[in-house]
Amino acid sequence: MSSPSDAEWDAVVGALRTADRVALACHVGPDGDALGSMLAMGAALRSLGKQVVASWGGEPFAVPESYSFLPAVDLLVPPGDFPASPPLFVTFDTGSPDRLGTLADRISTAECCIVVDHHASSTRYGGLNLVDTGAAATAVLVAELVDRLGVALTQEIAAPLYTGLVTDTGSFKYSATTPSVHELAARLLATGIRHDLISRAIYDTAPFDYVRLLGDACAAAELDPAAVGGLGLVWTVVEASAMRSSGLGLADVEGVIDVLRTAQEAEVAVVLKGDPLDGGWKVSTRSKGAVDVGAVCTGLGGGGHRFAAGFSADGAPEQVLAQLREALAAAPHLPT
Ligand code: MN
Repeated sequence: MSSPSDAEWDAVVGALRTADRVALACHVGPDGDALGSMLAMGAALRSLGKQVVASWGGEPFAVPESYSFLPAVDLLVPPGDFPASPPLFVTFDTGSPDRLGTLADRISTAECCIVVDHHASSTRYGGLNLVDTGAAATAVLVAELVDRLGVALTQEIAAPLYTGLVTDTGSFKYSATTPSVHELAARLLATGIRHDLISRAIYDTAPFDYVRLLGDACAAAELDPAAVGGLGLVWTVVEASAMRSSGLGLADVEGVIDVLRTAQEAEVAVVLKGDPLDGGWKVSTRSKGAVDVGAVCTGLGGGGHRFAAGFSADGAPEQVLAQLREALAAAPHLPT
């Protein structure tokens, strides 16, 4: 694990303080931490009187329904309207340039690029890198940035930070949930944000068609207790056609793996999701702590965290799965 030095914090705070215009980006297919970290920083910088835009490099550009409640979504612009050569370009929760999609070229066209992230697989591609692989969420780093900038926590800043914290810790269930995570959550709640409504919007609200699709995905799931060196694998496939006929997108089916991974016979859970746009597969993996799926997915061209990671692949689902099973079988078992 590595955390930023005081010199790194000071350099980033200095760059943010002196900038008049700041362009923020997060990874394509943004999750709660990517979007929440970016919008919280955007709201804080706006309160300092800076011109702020925020985006991600994926088309079609639409805020995922579950996160449309976030304040500061008015900072978002489609990637086509994103400045071509911003003076200051800051990325959030994005471990490698390819995850920036069409905005990846800003790393070189910007005068300065700052990377704010907590991915173990971070390639530290910025001129300045604020990477803490031990942080439970990128939102934890942004909260510290807000403090170091001397900006008071408002609900507009706290709601997106809480969103990042609650999503990346699995509602404070994952092992990265430290006492300081709860202390930060307490500070955020003290601003008066409605955490009950935030959690309902993220976790407990979905179209009926999603409930049906989830049922189909679970009914089609398969279990192989002998896979992953005898630790067990459970997997399912969500076809692009199934999403399309239900009017759902990739962001809408993120939660399938959270149900699948409850199967106690399997250390690793895998969901292959058909990408309606490029015809390929987005592969999500989760482990319970005995296998580093982050390393496995990085080896397959993706990335992520030790126990939650993913990669993109083309070809028949059986081929994608066979390749993944081979890598999982070879993965060392971690002490638990
Ligand atoms: Mn994150």
